[in-house]
Amino acid sequence: MTELVGDYHSGRDSARQKARLRIDDDGQCRLYLEDGARRDCGAFDGLTVTPRLGNTPRIIELPDGSGFETRDNDAVDVLLRRHGRARGHRWLHRLESHLPLVILATVLVAAFVAAMATWGIPAAARVTAQALSPEINRKLGQGTLEILDRSTFSESELPPERQQQLRELFAPYVAAYPDWQIRILFRNGGDIGANAMALPGGQILFTDQMVELAEDDRELLAVLGHEIGHLEHRHLMRRALQNSMITVIIMFISGDVSQASNLIYALPTLLMELAYSRDFEIEADDFAYEFLTRNGISPVWFARIMRRLEAQVSGGTDDGAASGSDFLSTHPPTLERIRRFEEAAEPES
Ligand SMILES: [Zn+2]
Repeated sequence: MTELVGDYHSGRDSARQKARLRIDDDGQCRLYLEDGARRDCGAFDGLTVTPRLGNTPRIIELPDGSGFETRDNDAVDVLLRRHGRARGHRWLHRLESHLPLVILATVLVAAFVAAMATWGIPAAARVTAQALSPEINRKLGQGTLEILDRSTFSESELPPERQQQLRELFAPYVAAYPDWQIRILFRNGGDIGANAMALPGGQILFTDQMVELAEDDRELLAVLGHEIGHLEHRHLMRRALQNSMITVIIMFISGDVSQASNLIYALPTLLMELAYSRDFEIEADDFAYEFLTRNGISPVWFARIMRRLEAQVSGGTDDGAASGSDFLSTHPPTLERIRRFEEAAEPES
């Protein structure tokens, strides 16, 4: 016979009293309460016993819904083994009391989370970004622009004729991407300085400072190519989606992309941080390279404006102007990126 010492609670109120649970050798249980009452509880192997977790008390649920709580874990384990119920929950305790197993499990969980973050989330973000309708992209782009116009940009000070001239220069090139209905925008970049960015709705924005930095309009065409690359690869949306894992997961599982409109709050911040990943910058550079050569423009023009941007940053006095640049705050180091374009043939101009 085994006797467990513990507390009894009826399950109907919070009152508890001391009690003993006796299990005879045949596995029949009888409960003895402090107030002298006793009751049969049937066979031990018919009772539910909570799993062993460290030294937390075990609760043995009795058939009438009341419970008996004991700290005598070892005796409970002996009983469970003896009466054929040992399998069930014991792995939990075994896992917990075996450190190497715990470490292994932790490593496995960490590896899974890392794999999700490294491959799963970006892959889901890519698929989701591709699935966003033009309508959603247009709304997100418009909303982002409105926020940026309130917070960061002011009206372009470029002469209207200059703006018109550039729009006409760009028109045949952007016409090759009819899905995006690309619109060219000019803004005074203020503290942002020389920069360009592509919004999800197909707006490609040049700051006045970027236009003024260019010594040849083909440099701006090169920048345009890079930005169309970001657009075609949907980098901004992928970045935004990657940053809101939960939203992605919900959209991915539910197929409900209406959640995407919440991303509007993330986009302006992301654009201002402009920390596109190295991979995204390389993709956009690749696109620009291809864009230029396909259009018979030397890739060197991209290198030239990049060089000038870099010189402005390293020699510049205003850190604020440098930190915002799409082209310079990113990896890989600008020189490495520039060299690819410089290795192309010299332009004849
Ligand atoms: Zn870029």
